[in-house]
Amino acid sequence: MRCLVTGGAGFLGSHLCERLLKDGHEVISLDNYFTGRLSNISHLRDNKSFEVIRHDVTEPILLEVDRIFNLACPASPVHYQHNPVKTIKTSVMGAINMLGMAKRVHARILQASTSEVYGDPAVHPQKEEYWGNVNPIGIRSCYDEGKRVAETLFMDYHRQNNVDIRIVRIFNTYGPRMLPNDGRVVSNFIVQALKGEPITIYGDGSQTRSFCYVDDLIECFIRMMNQEKIVGPVNAGNPSEFTMIELAKEVLSLTGSKSPIVYKDLPGDDPKKRKPDITLARSVLDWEPKISLQEGLSKTIAYFDNLLKNS
Ligand code: NAD
Ligand code: UDP
Repeated sequence: MRCLVTGGAGFLGSHLCERLLKDGHEVISLDNYFTGRLSNISHLRDNKSFEVIRHDVTEPILLEVDRIFNLACPASPVHYQHNPVKTIKTSVMGAINMLGMAKRVHARILQASTSEVYGDPAVHPQKEEYWGNVNPIGIRSCYDEGKRVAETLFMDYHRQNNVDIRIVRIFNTYGPRMLPNDGRVVSNFIVQALKGEPITIYGDGSQTRSFCYVDDLIECFIRMMNQEKIVGPVNAGNPSEFTMIELAKEVLSLTGSKSPIVYKDLPGDDPKKRKPDITLARSVLDWEPKISLQEGLSKTIAYFDNLLKNS
């Protein structure tokens, strides 16, 4: 198959390109390099089945492909709030452009949606049936509402035009190739611990997240794309739930760092709790995460340690 990965030079996109090439597919990475880096995919460039395109998904494009994985969108709150208008354009116009292409060339298309569609959830853990609790006018709305509209577009292109869609709602995923200055909690804590700088906990640190290692998530993408039973949305994440204090302590213990913990203001609309119900993924995709937080953090720490030593 010829697979297009939008956001292919980003954290998840680069791992996905690598996996698709390993599975014997032709792969095209499309990226505008806002948060992605060519260095994330430079090791793949000698592969004859790999192509790279610099393009912005807010502009139309036509490529003859069989499968589209639509990942283009900054994912870290720091980056998606940097230019909120661009963020919502990326989600909405990007979805329209990619769905239009899928319709024209009869490609199957998967949307990288997010647990943020549940907002600050009033239901815990979150099941796919839950409609969410999202502020439409807050500082996270450009991302949350953009992703919600993208889901709507996917469902409407499916119902109206019979486009072959898949929707995956990704919960916090981490691993090698996150940007060191990305602003997300796992990369922040690890980089701070390795540099001996204070670990910044926002709020009182009692808020929870459920962290999935990247390899587990990519396996879920592949299984979702390759099956015919459901279009989604399906939750993809690790149901083990941790407070930010627990995460900080785990990072300190695994790095052996003496960094102090400091408390900073909680950003606006920061969800208090988040944990996926993955019953659907377990039953339809026969998928569940295999990599524990400790194992995944160790691999990620090794990556950042190497990156910092060579920078
Ligand atoms: P990332 O920032 O590393 O990757 C996003 C990629 O999209 C980057 O390479 C960036 O340059 C590219 N991009 C951004 N705007 C673009 C545009 N207008 N045109 C073309 N390319 C553009 O983030 P990630 O963690 O790899 O996230 C990938 C996708 O998964 C995103 O859609 C994100 O919303 C979704 N997601 C990720 C997580 C997570 O925890 N990692 C959670 C939920 C959803
Ligand atoms: N967070 C933190 N310190 C940091 C970065 C983030 O305590 O240096 C908190 C943040 O407030 C949130 C959680 O960690 O409660 C996860 O943040 P992230 O930006 O990684 O993802 P999201 O909020 O989108 O789930």
